Amino acid sequence: MSTPQFNNYINGEWVTGPTFENRNPANTDEVVGNFVKGSPSDVEAAADAAGAALPGWANMAGPARGNLLYKVADILDRKFDQLGEEMTREEGKTLPEAKGEVRRAINIFRYFGGEGSRMPGMIVPSERDRVHMFAIRKPVGVCGLVTPWNFPVAIPAWKMAPALIAGNTIVVKPASASPLSAWRIVEACHEAGIPKGVVNFVAGSGGALGSALVNAKPIKAVSFTGSCEVGNWLHAEASKRHLRIQLEMGGKNPTIVLADADFNSAVENVCNAAFFSTGQKCTATSRAIVEDAIYDKFVAALVERTRKLKVGNGMKPGIDIGPAIDQGQLDTNIRYAEIGRKEVGEPLCGGNRLTGGDFDKGYFFEPTIFANVTENMRLAQEEIFGPVLAIMRAKDFEDCMRIANNIPFGLSASIQTTNLSRVFEYVYRMEAGLLTVNLPSAGVEYQLPFGGNKDSSFGPKEQGPAALDFYSDYKTVYLKY
Ligand code: NAP
Repeated sequence: MSTPQFNNYINGEWVTGPTFENRNPANTDEVVGNFVKGSPSDVEAAADAAGAALPGWANMAGPARGNLLYKVADILDRKFDQLGEEMTREEGKTLPEAKGEVRRAINIFRYFGGEGSRMPGMIVPSERDRVHMFAIRKPVGVCGLVTPWNFPVAIPAWKMAPALIAGNTIVVKPASASPLSAWRIVEACHEAGIPKGVVNFVAGSGGALGSALVNAKPIKAVSFTGSCEVGNWLHAEASKRHLRIQLEMGGKNPTIVLADADFNSAVENVCNAAFFSTGQKCTATSRAIVEDAIYDKFVAALVERTRKLKVGNGMKPGIDIGPAIDQGQLDTNIRYAEIGRKEVGEPLCGGNRLTGGDFDKGYFFEPTIFANVTENMRLAQEEIFGPVLAIMRAKDFEDCMRIANNIPFGLSASIQTTNLSRVFEYVYRMEAGLLTVNLPSAGVEYQLPFGGNKDSSFGPKEQGPAALDFYSDYKTVYLKY
């Protein structure tokens, strides 16, 4: 069977050109698809098309836009199994994880479809006689949406759906490592009958397209999820043009484990948060900060649990953990295992690339645990974005909190405890945008705001009702009658 080609989508047309390969990280012999490699002029054409489509889309009634988003959700739902399988093949996460993510993307389109009928503004009483005052939401304009490879359908969905429902038109630039899942949403937008120019899609290297995107005249806002390095560069560029910008970036998320925790759940939650999705979730736990009283017992139990995880091709039943996304991420995992060996000695489990048989075809790395990591080590401070966990010993709750907050990042955090007072201390004092209690640090829903603090994020939050704050602006009206 010949490899399918996926074209760019500009002004309602599928646009062809030179291509790049999207390969399966679990089996690099398999090319999932060839994607058209967009050029800066494609980005400019996409932004111009979005600019031309803006007035028509912005002036459409919100509920009518909502109906189109419902149709997108229905189309994705009809292809549910296919989309899950494609995601596992392009990103490597296990099939149940991939299907869970597709379900989330469908729900996101339905949720924001409903916002079309609400679009809450403000109405307040005036101090003046016979003056009616209110504020309505208006779209920002053309939005550039830049997405990472690790949640290849959910993140594009949680940018596209709120942008569209608020009346903006968009240019989507997906991650080169996993562009197919985002492409499927764009295809669904086309099939749903969203007017031409409203949704545009340009794949290709971010390094080659980034400047064109921030400098395209019609672009008024950029929403980015990815690394701090690229996000901070984008922020500097976008600020020169006074663009609205939203950045969701790296993390080094802690799970605090207190001596009074439900022990077995704590082991399970840390194992899940550190290793599922190959540690490639922005909300994954990469530091377990464990109270001294249970430290040795907890470490032993976690190592035993982790050794049972099955690594392999995520399409196969029973596999817990898939491959790293690419050679670069695999090299990063290997490099940090070496750094860990120098900092604390041999890992308690893992630490190596998996080889032999099918492993040789993909980027497989063992789930890895380093114990006795201390605060200033690189293992405790730097984002790895792989299945490498640093366990740190803390004297007591206060020490756990101090260590947990001693980091420039602030994306997510978790605590495992049955002590209610400590839960509230943690809720009010933990420096992170997304907190969990007695759950893994990863695993978010779409109905509440999402995003971090400190160096992890910049700008308004994504998802939930808060998403509209980035994608809309207020127009305030004073009306004498
Ligand atoms: P990345 O290298 O920063 O890439 C993210 C996106 O930016 C990709 O589409 C990439 O395109 C594009 N890009 C690269 N250079 C660019 C430039 N100069 N201008 C404009 N766009 C550019 O990040 P990643 O490796 O895909 O993702 C991993 C990172 O994302 C981790 O740091 C992780 O913590 C973070 N992340 C954060 C969240 C969150 O919500 N906070 C969620 C998920 C991931 P190419 O693919 O073509 O390079």
